[in-house]
Amino acid sequence: LAGAGGAVIRTTCAYCGVGCGILAERTGERALTIQGDPDHPANHGRLCSKGTHLGETVGLDGRLLHPMIGQRRATWNKALDLVARRFRETIATHGPNSVAFYVSGQLLTEDYYVANKLMKGFIGSANIDTNSRLCMSSAVAGQMRAFGEDVVPADYDDLDAAELIVLVGSNTAWCHPIVYQRIRAGRAKLVVIDPRRTETADEADLHLPLKPGSDVLLMNGLLAHCRREGVLDDAYLDAHVAVPDDFWTTIDDGHDLWSVAKGCDLPVADVQRFFELFAAHPRTVTLFSQGINQSLRGTDQVNAILNLHLATGRIGKPGAAPFSITGQPNAMGGREVGGLASTLAAHMDFAPAHRARVQHFWAAPTIAEKPGLKAVDLFRAIADGQVKALWVMATNPAVSMPDAARVRDALAACPFVVVSDVIAETDTSVHAHVRLPAAAWGEKDGTVTNSERRISRQRAVLPLPGEARPDWWIIAQVARRMGWGSAFAYDRPADIFREHARLSAYQNDGARVFDLRAHAAIGNAAYDALGPFQWGGTPFADGRFSTADARARLVTVTQRAAEAVPPRWPLTLNTGRYRDQWHTMTRTGLSPKLARHREEPLIEVHPGDAGALKDGGLARVETPQGATLYRVRVTDAQRPGELFAPIHWTDRTARGGRTGLLPRALVDPHSGQPGFKQTPA
Ligand code: SF4
Repeated sequence: LAGAGGAVIRTTCAYCGVGCGILAERTGERALTIQGDPDHPANHGRLCSKGTHLGETVGLDGRLLHPMIGQRRATWNKALDLVARRFRETIATHGPNSVAFYVSGQLLTEDYYVANKLMKGFIGSANIDTNSRLCMSSAVAGQMRAFGEDVVPADYDDLDAAELIVLVGSNTAWCHPIVYQRIRAGRAKLVVIDPRRTETADEADLHLPLKPGSDVLLMNGLLAHCRREGVLDDAYLDAHVAVPDDFWTTIDDGHDLWSVAKGCDLPVADVQRFFELFAAHPRTVTLFSQGINQSLRGTDQVNAILNLHLATGRIGKPGAAPFSITGQPNAMGGREVGGLASTLAAHMDFAPAHRARVQHFWAAPTIAEKPGLKAVDLFRAIADGQVKALWVMATNPAVSMPDAARVRDALAACPFVVVSDVIAETDTSVHAHVRLPAAAWGEKDGTVTNSERRISRQRAVLPLPGEARPDWWIIAQVARRMGWGSAFAYDRPADIFREHARLSAYQNDGARVFDLRAHAAIGNAAYDALGPFQWGGTPFADGRFSTADARARLVTVTQRAAEAVPPRWPLTLNTGRYRDQWHTMTRTGLSPKLARHREEPLIEVHPGDAGALKDGGLARVETPQGATLYRVRVTDAQRPGELFAPIHWTDRTARGGRTGLLPRALVDPHSGQPGFKQTPA
């Protein structure tokens, strides 16, 4: 399979965290045929609609093919010199925290590693955050609180071994279709917890359309039921889990079946059925996604789920696990290299010992002292003038951030903006002073990590068009021009992967699960031929966690009273994805076949709220942040009082339906993840 020019190349899908293996064959100048890789353990040959139509998205229409300074084409030398000079000058005048990178779960691990190293170890700031902040940072924060390390202790085989699968806040059938197919192919009973009656909920054995934001109450109620019914694993708790003094009184208090059902706005009989199903099936996987994470209480909601699995000993065993499924193709790789403002490389944090380790390993002149600005705060700091130079890589925050109009204003006011992207004109790059042409999927080489901690290769199938270059090369070139050439003297992605693997093992005496020491000396040929592999084995199978005393932590979390409904904004807007679109459509929007599924953004509204509106009519949706126009879909799949809109459309592709204008820039206090799911409207 190795080779190019008509050969079939094994690579990995560009889109979601399922991480499906692909066989790609070049059949023309810019043409590929795409098939699922039957030997890849994530998908065994299956692909969803987005992966299947990847070949339609590799043309050069709209591509950024040359470095641009303003509207003029520039040489690489001139553009890189300018970026390095402006960053150097800004740091010299205003300090290292006056600059920032905003990166992406679309980057390969090698790209991510180099960006993080430059910012945290050489510039000396932790102002590098990522669009993964919008996607799963509450899962990261929750796992760090419970396990002492950001480890997803589940894999896809657990879905086959489970007797019961609980999907919380996840339209898996649309958003992770290959995982959903695997769930349906198994024998496990399926419970879906989601305010919306989605395509996933339609096929469940039990659907609980709970009141939005009542997840902690439901999970605490279930834990109280398990305690009453003797379902807790006392031996496991005694041996492996630290329990706060107030924990059980909090769980016992007010969590009888009727109070829980009332608080969640669910029928008592359905809640009872769920509790009985959970109690009866020790092999339970609880899979959760953005409905849990994208909330002002996301981290507490994650810990409510992790509490359940720890207290019942349903972790580290086949078919028994809490499973945070990631949105982006390489959110997990970004987490491994420390690509969040709140973490250091190789699953380390800002503790003095960790900082010293990373600085020593990199032989870095400095190291960031404390966590940097998380996404929402980062764009506020740009608007306030604190951050004066920004480099955006492979993402489109002018559309995807909450309160996107303010983000657009911040970009327009920022003294120096660099955008590396594959697309020439995005809502973000129109504000760039320098645009750098990045290699796209199918042109670049490196690794990605999927939701089950499986590292797979992405491989180049097509030649680099124009003057496009891989992101790692672009960042290393700027680092060299800033005076740190020897630390960024990489010739190929394998050089970076080896260093990343060595760092994961450096002074890691087994305290952290993430450890790639087996690959620390991988040769170039072996890297080229690297097959998919999973790190961490079965995490926590021995009951030892990554905390100082090796015990996991139950975390006391309580249901907060619902936000008062402001009279002017009587509805609640929820946002999410369509089956065949991805992010802000810069890639999927290129495929005519994918456009057929949904040609425009719809606002979904319950018949009781529709008033005179009919299917196909137009509605202007307003929130305190902004307003936009949608075509209406009236459906009883929505709960009364709630709206649903897709996230994908932008000003550049439609007159309305620009959902990013609507959510508030409010975040979970632990993770900094925005609460996209509940906006007064
Ligand atoms: Fe790609 Fe995700 Fe679809 Fe797999 S499920 S083909 S990774 S978009």
